[in-house]
Amino acid sequence: MKKITIAIDGHSSCGKSTMAKDLAREIGYIYIDSGAMYRCCTLFCLQQGLISPDGTIDTAEFERRMPEIHVSFRLNPETGRPDTYLNNVCVEREIRTMEVSSFVSPVAALPFVRAAMTAQQQEMGREGGIVMDGRDIGTAVFPNAEMKVFVTASDEIRAQRRYDELIAKGEQAVFQQVLENLRERDRIDSTRAVAPLRQADDALVLDNSHLTIPEQKQWLLDRFIERTHPQTP
Ligand code: C5P
Repeated sequence: MKKITIAIDGHSSCGKSTMAKDLAREIGYIYIDSGAMYRCCTLFCLQQGLISPDGTIDTAEFERRMPEIHVSFRLNPETGRPDTYLNNVCVEREIRTMEVSSFVSPVAALPFVRAAMTAQQQEMGREGGIVMDGRDIGTAVFPNAEMKVFVTASDEIRAQRRYDELIAKGEQAVFQQVLENLRERDRIDSTRAVAPLRQADDALVLDNSHLTIPEQKQWLLDRFIERTHPQTP
């Protein structure tokens, strides 16, 4: 059976990646976390001193050094999930900190960053059989994806989920800061000039504010089955 392309977009911290990972594992597709790629670009900038403490990005130097950034994903046999590597170093933990979260949206708004990451994402999905989550997957990266989902949930519920995740990982977190960070990221992501966050016209919408993880998983699987095994009248 032909393997399709599945694009899952939506607001920050709405559980897209959990849903996308679970679906990919269930149906034997490759999962790509496009947000991790933008987080790697941000970590690279921080490590190389390309972002000053006031948040100013040295864009000329960053653009010149963009070809030095290589992002890859490797399956972690212990967790059964892919870990993110920046230039062959596992950065799965480093890219999820509040520091990276607070600079990632301005970095991801830079046109040369989007051009480089979009090209890599399109290459990864060339053969289909992929579930990719992000902000512009169904609109800019794979506008012809056979299945598109747009996920959202209330701001407070999303912030609570993100806060719980950070605390569980042993990170320092303040709920109000987490809430402000996700609102600010949504604002920047939705208003940037290149590939802004928006719902594709042909996307299925899922508000998962009051759904459990197993319920979301089932919803997504049902939509996948509808797409790939259409009922004959
Ligand atoms: O998905 P995640 O929250 O890890 O993404 C981090 C950031 O990367 C987002 O806030 C957004 O600024 C950027 N991003 C993007 N386009 C994507 C995926 C993520 O601009 N396809």
